[in-house]
Amino acid sequence: MIYAADWIVTQNPRREKIRRGAILVRDGRVAAVGPAREIAAAHPGEQVEDFGQAAIFPGLVDSHCHLPMSPLRGLGDDKPLFAWLQEDIFPREARLTQEAVYEGALLSCRELARTGCTSFYDMYMLEEGVFAAADETGLRGVLGENVTRFFPQLGGATREALFARMRGNIAAWSGHPRLRAAVCPHAPYTTDPEILRACRELCDETGALFGMHLAETQKETDDCVAEHGLRPVEYCDSLGLLRPDATFFHCVHVTPDEIALLRDRGCVAVHNPASNMKLASGTAPVPAMVRAGLPVALGTDGPASNNQQNMVREMWLAALLGKASAGDPSAMTAQMALDMATLGGAAALHDPDIGSLEPGKHADFFVLDLAAEPNTTPAHDPVSTLVYAATGHETRLTAVSGRPIYRKGAPRPNREGERGGGGALSP
Ligand SMILES: [Zn+2]
Repeated sequence: MIYAADWIVTQNPRREKIRRGAILVRDGRVAAVGPAREIAAAHPGEQVEDFGQAAIFPGLVDSHCHLPMSPLRGLGDDKPLFAWLQEDIFPREARLTQEAVYEGALLSCRELARTGCTSFYDMYMLEEGVFAAADETGLRGVLGENVTRFFPQLGGATREALFARMRGNIAAWSGHPRLRAAVCPHAPYTTDPEILRACRELCDETGALFGMHLAETQKETDDCVAEHGLRPVEYCDSLGLLRPDATFFHCVHVTPDEIALLRDRGCVAVHNPASNMKLASGTAPVPAMVRAGLPVALGTDGPASNNQQNMVREMWLAALLGKASAGDPSAMTAQMALDMATLGGAAALHDPDIGSLEPGKHADFFVLDLAAEPNTTPAHDPVSTLVYAATGHETRLTAVSGRPIYRKGAPRPNREGERGGGGALSP
């Protein structure tokens, strides 16, 4: 199959953008990328879908999310993190069921696919429901069970029961072509050293990835210093958690030395501008991280602290916040925002086969319409149009491993108790 459009934004090492370009997809992988005429001539008889006035981008990667939380969207808005968690989120989460986790994740997967996202790094409880939703909707993902020191917790009456469940999930989904398990202790302030070491050991034993919220608020830093005598990044390093399979969400309150330490240990940071702004958690020093060579990805965080799961909007916020916080319009460019949402995502998910449209990589991509809506016209530079002008809802097609998971205008399969709407996710 050949997909052609006015622009192909490759995100290859030279950041090439091909006018009137095409990608050839074979067995779920990108087989060739180049000028549409050359690709078609080299592969006569190949079926061609030409999107015309549109741009094809690598699929966006939501590197930090809590997909089952979409039913909590809009609850407890406008509060600081700790009050919001204690008063609005934790009491409701205590009553969550496996079915609610699955239904919430399904809704979130639709929202991601609808706005050009093909991969995610999720962290939640009862993660079996997220595995099922992601498997059904066709997205690619890393899925981590949330671990805290509060037992009984959802998914585990005791620590032993929870770890046995995690071991079972890791084994059950091992070898899946798109989904990979992670172990996700919630944060330094909701765990203890023993739990964090046990999570680290489970990753070493099984090959599961390690992800955790880190240095999100000033209060977290102050409490960590008071309790352990170390700042959050130092504390995690003292426990041996800073390793090349580790992805840390937020990293708002980090010093230049801590940025260098995260980089030297081979870790990845995930920036969540909407969540950090909405909860007034602070501003992550992203331009400094990029300058230091620390890989930085981009995430939406949960739909209750954002309240959208739209990576196009997240890139726009990341670019504007980076400029405003640095007092420098060049501190965070549209290209840097797209890099975080694609190649940064590949680093965060520890998956070198995503993040760009290059031969051999997974055919994960989305098609942005440049003709139907006034806000994307004219498109002098598709990267500028995507980051600064688009809303994400101009997406015409989203595909994972070459398989469409969203196509604008296609009817959605009817599911019991669900109202209809535009767009589709293949069953
Ligand atoms: Zn989070």
